[in-house]
Amino acid sequence: MNMDRQDRLKALGLWPVWRLRAAAMAEPETASPDDAEPAVMAQITLPPAPAMPPSPVPSPLPDLDWDALGAAVKACDRCPLARSRTQGVPGVGDPNAEWLFIGEAPADEDRQGEPFVGQAGKLLDAMMAGIGLRRGRNVYIANILKSRPPGNRDPRPEEVEACLPYLERQIDLIKPRLIVVLGRIAAQTLLVSDTPIGKLRGHVHQYRGVPMVVTYHPAYLLRNPADKAKAWEDLVLARQTMAGLKSGAAP
Ligand code: URA
Repeated sequence: MNMDRQDRLKALGLWPVWRLRAAAMAEPETASPDDAEPAVMAQITLPPAPAMPPSPVPSPLPDLDWDALGAAVKACDRCPLARSRTQGVPGVGDPNAEWLFIGEAPADEDRQGEPFVGQAGKLLDAMMAGIGLRRGRNVYIANILKSRPPGNRDPRPEEVEACLPYLERQIDLIKPRLIVVLGRIAAQTLLVSDTPIGKLRGHVHQYRGVPMVVTYHPAYLLRNPADKAKAWEDLVLARQTMAGLKSGAAP
């Protein structure tokens, strides 16, 4: 295993676990960077996805281009969060990305104007690096809510209802091949479900006709590092799904 990969797995808190599994498979120390992956991938079973693909509903903001969307988010007063936020945070990344990561709402990010820039953001960057992705390169990062809820409380249904059209328009503009949704709240919101995240993960869902994989929120993983191994399985599932999509296999 080369040092880059080792460093990335260490950043995810997976290195010792990874090393033990790789050792159990009696992999030579000189193995190529990807040689150890079947140890984890082999543990992934793909039960049939429980959710039916919702047919894409036209975005209620069909005419907004990227500039207009960004301006609309910054000026938005569709919900009371407009009064408490520092600024609206539309998202960041490649507007033609194949990968779309969706979180819950900006936290302290509403000062910088970019999603996931705190400690959770660092872990998200490490998670993406683990599957060969880098912020801004074929990746777009957005949130369900574009405005910070006071005290980082959970989004309220009326806030989600007011804000979701922006995300829907972003998805229609980006046309990602795959969505990775981060955390219970974002997953339950998009899937219109109260199923626990532990049951939503491990399947390939659909959102607006786009395959979607659910994993734990990086902030949750910072508090519950034991679940990083499951998050890694989710990322491997996401990468497998993307590979299948690119090779023409159905998700
Ligand atoms: N920052 C974000 O942008 N989104 C989250 O879900 C959490 C922190």
